Amino acid sequence: MNKFLELGKFSFGIGDRFAHQAKAQLRACLMVADQGVEIVPVWNKSNREHTIIGSDPSDTRVAVDTAVRELGWKRPYYLDADHIRLETVDRFMPFADFFTIDVADSIGKPAGFKSVKAFVDSHPELIGKIVIPHVNQPLETTRADVERIAGQYLLAVQDAGKIYRHIARAKGEANFITEVSMDETDSPQTPPELLIILAALADEKIPVQTIAPKFTGRFNKGVDYVGDVKQFEREFNADLAVIAFATGKYGLPGPLKLSVHSGSDKFSIYAPIRRALKKFNAGLHLKTAGTTWLEEVIGLAEAGGDGLALAKEIYTDALEHADELCAPYAMVIDIDRKKLPAKETVNGWTSEQYVSALRHDQKNRAFNPSFRQLLHVGFKIAAKKGDRYLNALKQHEAVIAKNVTENLFERHMKPLLLPKTKPARKPSRREAVLA
Ligand SMILES: [Zn+2]
Repeated sequence: MNKFLELGKFSFGIGDRFAHQAKAQLRACLMVADQGVEIVPVWNKSNREHTIIGSDPSDTRVAVDTAVRELGWKRPYYLDADHIRLETVDRFMPFADFFTIDVADSIGKPAGFKSVKAFVDSHPELIGKIVIPHVNQPLETTRADVERIAGQYLLAVQDAGKIYRHIARAKGEANFITEVSMDETDSPQTPPELLIILAALADEKIPVQTIAPKFTGRFNKGVDYVGDVKQFEREFNADLAVIAFATGKYGLPGPLKLSVHSGSDKFSIYAPIRRALKKFNAGLHLKTAGTTWLEEVIGLAEAGGDGLALAKEIYTDALEHADELCAPYAMVIDIDRKKLPAKETVNGWTSEQYVSALRHDQKNRAFNPSFRQLLHVGFKIAAKKGDRYLNALKQHEAVIAKNVTENLFERHMKPLLLPKTKPARKPSRREAVLA
């Protein structure tokens, strides 16, 4: 028997910034379950989000347990202490059972000559030609390559080990799921780098179940992938091949999955991801968070009246504080300031105009990705409105919940993981006449 909790093949990070949408999110998982696919919901929230909003991990726990009880969800679900480090993990300890250990800050910091040498000496198999099934060309590495890569990542992995053992002491090894994230850094990790990182994680005895590398291309918040989709597909496939290979070779607890951060709304890579998962019979963890907060704003706008007024106010405040809101997210947004509508324009919008600009429907010509990204990072504005915002969420719960569920189910879960349904057959001319 496995001594660790197991995450399951497919899981979704479903962030719920204001802790009011857990039920609507869970409903999307129930709809998927009705079609015979299990998606394990994982409510992820980082310390940064908690700080900006002024919430506590205990709030997430209460909201999620309530939703699970009320909807009668009988399958596993988890709470993710997202992007934690040693300094920020403790407040999550009693409430989280999934920990995303973020060691991106330690990448590139020297691990020390001795530990690099020890690592390379103990891994002669990493030097030379490495044949990995399903990767066209064998990886070729020299001792100098392995030393360089180990020099870059070993300290990060050792830090992950320290944080993992700290959590294990507090919670007991068997009681949580471990993710290691390296996505918030400048350059993507190549397949040989991933292989060396996995060997090092195995040395540290970290039972990692999901790993979040930085992929090629831009993963801007709340909008589609920007980059070379073909290259992404090649790398994603190579990463899955490396994971399958390393899991067997280093005895990682497995099944180890890739975790895609800022994974919401990356519609143009969902088909490549889907193909790759099928080819490798691999699982996936996909993190979405801000996409749900945007559905709250869409629901408010759709509600009209005071809901629409509040949605407009959130935008105009966000526009006024754009610099401050965008600064912490500079790496993950791409806003064309010239495309941001003026305050006066938005104040004159109908519900439909507001919703068309914000909802991620690429076929709608009024959809405005700059408007959407600014609101994505603008949740601080809503947080500042305090009870006024929370009361509006309660007042317009029905229309918001519908948008939250539909967004996750139709635009995310279905294209990624549900079996494709055949398009309805066109009626013959005779049938059409008879109808
Ligand atoms: Zn992340």
